[in-house]
Amino acid sequence: MIQYLSTTGGTAPVDFETAILDGFAGDGGLYVPERLPTFSLNQLHQWKNLGYTDVAFEVLSLFIDKSVMQAKELKNLLSEAYAPFEKEEVIPMHRLRSRKDTYIMELFYGPTLSFKDIGLAFLVNLVDFFLKRKKERLSIVVATTGDTGPATAYFTAGKTNLDAWVLYPQEFITEEQERQMTTLPHSNVYPVAVSNCPDGGDDLDLVIAKLYANKPFKEKLKLSSVNSINWGRVMMQTVHYIYGYLQVVDTIGDPIDMVVPSGGFGNLCAGGLARNMGLPVGTFVIANNKNACLHRIFSKGQFKKEAIYETPSSAIDILIPYNFWRFLYFQVGMDGAQIRGWISEFKQTGNLQFDQATFEAYRKGFLSYSATDAQTISVIREMYLAEGYLLDPHGAVAAAAAKALSGVLTGKKTLYLNTAHPAKFPEVILKALGANNLPDAATHRSIIAAKKRCQKKYSCHHAHLEEALLAAMENNWDLKMGNETN
Ligand SMILES: *Cc1c(COP(=O)(O)O)cnc(C)c1O
Repeated sequence: MIQYLSTTGGTAPVDFETAILDGFAGDGGLYVPERLPTFSLNQLHQWKNLGYTDVAFEVLSLFIDKSVMQAKELKNLLSEAYAPFEKEEVIPMHRLRSRKDTYIMELFYGPTLSFKDIGLAFLVNLVDFFLKRKKERLSIVVATTGDTGPATAYFTAGKTNLDAWVLYPQEFITEEQERQMTTLPHSNVYPVAVSNCPDGGDDLDLVIAKLYANKPFKEKLKLSSVNSINWGRVMMQTVHYIYGYLQVVDTIGDPIDMVVPSGGFGNLCAGGLARNMGLPVGTFVIANNKNACLHRIFSKGQFKKEAIYETPSSAIDILIPYNFWRFLYFQVGMDGAQIRGWISEFKQTGNLQFDQATFEAYRKGFLSYSATDAQTISVIREMYLAEGYLLDPHGAVAAAAAKALSGVLTGKKTLYLNTAHPAKFPEVILKALGANNLPDAATHRSIIAAKKRCQKKYSCHHAHLEEALLAAMENNWDLKMGNETN
């Protein structure tokens, strides 16, 4: 049975269930499996004609022991999680007309129209499954740059053993995204609009870390996180790389290039691990917008925090890609002490330069690019005119990176991971198309319906967030548990 350790090496091994329910490891690091399972080309052959949830079952079975969960339970959980998705294939692949070797992996047909639905559909249901079995309840706190929040809210809504506190930087997300969180009728979802965040969503991560560090509070409210610090997200996200590969490859074993719009590196950490497990990916392209922390890491070996820019692709306006540490852990021989040293150096100086050997060890098989806002906007327009295909701003960052690097991508095929539906970003689409009205492809009935509902939310200034949350969360917990203390 695979046990779980911390990236920073400071915890005793725990089992899968504990790793999922804790979110963070006890020493503040991220949970990682003590070893990565692998699969062969032969196994890939056997999975070739399976649908998405069946591939997911095969891949997750490599991580989840039968003593933790029966095969039938896992199968049921997967089919329940992906039932609300709009397309029967869950994740369709769209082949471009003008470049037949290029496909778009459409990760946005979940109920809240972004790729976060993929990881959270399964993870929230998994947490709920464990809680029901243990007859416990817990509180989820997440920070969002716009898409994690809606997905967490949707999948948590109505679950009897779970409450979700969803923190978002008010000025950094679209009205469409906000309404996805604030118009649910259920009483176990608490959206919190935080104003005046100087560093966007990254600020909220810091406050969450403080809530976690507050031991009595954490214990009382049973805090957990489903941000991509949670191993369950990353594990689930390995599946779409494998499924996507199987859908588009002609001969199993052929290398395929994949281009991924990236912020926190949760998606690509999973991609990198899928490759370590045996997936024949040629090159992964890390597509950043102007917030180029990952691009600096992969092109210069420099981990440095810079000022935030507001870009059209707001879900990847992220300054510190914390899942990079999780990937790095596997590339440097699973040396937790070394990771801990780097993190503490970064915390002290804000600027870390990796040595050459480490740089080579992690960047092998990756290219990176930082797309400007102008490139992002113009690629949306170009693709729409040439293909009749409407990219969202994040898919556009990927397409812009692929265009800039096309000379050096050598795989037989290229797969762009398209992470959001354009209906979540109408203003960018209008600007890109120079239009006054949205084309049908940029609308969605769920977004239109949410416009006509009342909003329900807490509002708070960033300066008082920690204090305000401590009070509001505890108050609600006491009310729900029926032991008010006045
Ligand atoms: C979260 C998100 C990403 C980035 O994923 P990471 O795992 O943070 O790198 C990209 N696009 C969209 C639309 C997202 O919501």
